[in-house]
Amino acid sequence: MRGYVFERPGTVEDAVRRSGSDTAFLAGGTTLVDLMKLEVMNPGRVLDINRLPLHGIDVTADGLRIGALARMSEVAADPRVRRAYPMLTQALESSASGQLRNMASIGGNLLQRTRCGYFREVSTPCNKRRPGSGCPAVEGENRMHAVLGTSGSCVATHPSDLAVALVALDATVRLRGRDGERTVPLREFYLLPGDTPQHEHDLRPGELITGVHVPGLDWARHSLYLKVRDRRSYEFALSSAAVALRTAGGTIVEARVAVGGMGTRPWRLPAVERALAGRPATEATYAAAAATAVEGVRPLRHNAFKPELMKRTIVRALLELERTR
Ligand SMILES: Cc1cc2nc3c(=O)[nH]c(=O)nc-3n(C[C@H](O)[C@H](O)[C@H](O)COP(=O)(O)OP(=O)(O)OC[C@H]3O[C@@H](n4cnc5c(N)ncnc54)[C@H](O)[C@@H]3O)c2cc1C
Ligand code: SF4
Repeated sequence: MRGYVFERPGTVEDAVRRSGSDTAFLAGGTTLVDLMKLEVMNPGRVLDINRLPLHGIDVTADGLRIGALARMSEVAADPRVRRAYPMLTQALESSASGQLRNMASIGGNLLQRTRCGYFREVSTPCNKRRPGSGCPAVEGENRMHAVLGTSGSCVATHPSDLAVALVALDATVRLRGRDGERTVPLREFYLLPGDTPQHEHDLRPGELITGVHVPGLDWARHSLYLKVRDRRSYEFALSSAAVALRTAGGTIVEARVAVGGMGTRPWRLPAVERALAGRPATEATYAAAAATAVEGVRPLRHNAFKPELMKRTIVRALLELERTR
């Protein structure tokens, strides 16, 4: 690990004033410290933000507000979240491990970096880590990599489970920088790799995530997050689906569907949602709708199984959701 300046600002204003392009904010440190040890990230200044008043969870008339420093385990265990947005609890509880979730924050989870092995190995080229150096994953080891939203420059998946559920719920992130505050839909916050995979999100240099807002959606109490992975715990998603259905008399009125492990960012599936709406809530409907999920997929040499896995994950998630009613 390289040397750096370490500071502990006491206010959001102070944190923002001290931050810049060479700064990293330290929340739980469960990703940042790892990447600093590997010398994948080498910030000149680390600002420990844990003293900032960005903790807490509030259920308000217009939805759910989660502070950027709320811990993953705290949000997952909150009875109000558990009751109103089960897919959030399930996404969090299927992430990382109990110890990591106790340390890791919501803001840090949304800004974790990809788990592409080439990205984490500094002796190899990687366009995301060193722009213009190449992408060995396109022809190399790419079983875990993306089939949606890829480019010739980068095919890495976005790793956060929580982000998939939040995208399904139309959540927004609150940001604070030197130019003031702004709010961005999470769905637009993450950028496609294109020719600049080093730019992963719409966060300006030195800008801080202060919190997340999940709009009120009363039928989200009928929601579910299903994660398919190589091991039952302590493993990133090979495939995942966040689903919610509003039904009336056995007919689907409205649906929310997003998938993880497939895209270069958390992937909402409006075509699947449209194919579900107005149809009977049956396995045949789920299968027909899930078939539209694979439009535009571009499998790689080692992950040609992923489109089929995506369809099955969506159908299984919808069937499991039906069983929880
Ligand atoms: C072994 C292992 C397994 C894991 N498995 C999963 C999994 O299955 N699913 C999953 O979703 N995650 C998984 N994770 C990732 C884990 O969830 C993240 O490490 C964690 O959420 C990051 O939170 P943190 O608070 O520790 O972030 P930090 O490590 O402190 O920060 C991460 C990044 O976010 C930036 N940052 C943090 N907070 C803010 C803020 N408020 N504003 C601006 N920038 C900020 C930091 O500067 C840094 O770049 C795993 C991690 C490990 C180590
Ligand atoms: S897939 Fe992306 S992160 Fe992985 S090596 Fe290629 S450029 Fe780097």
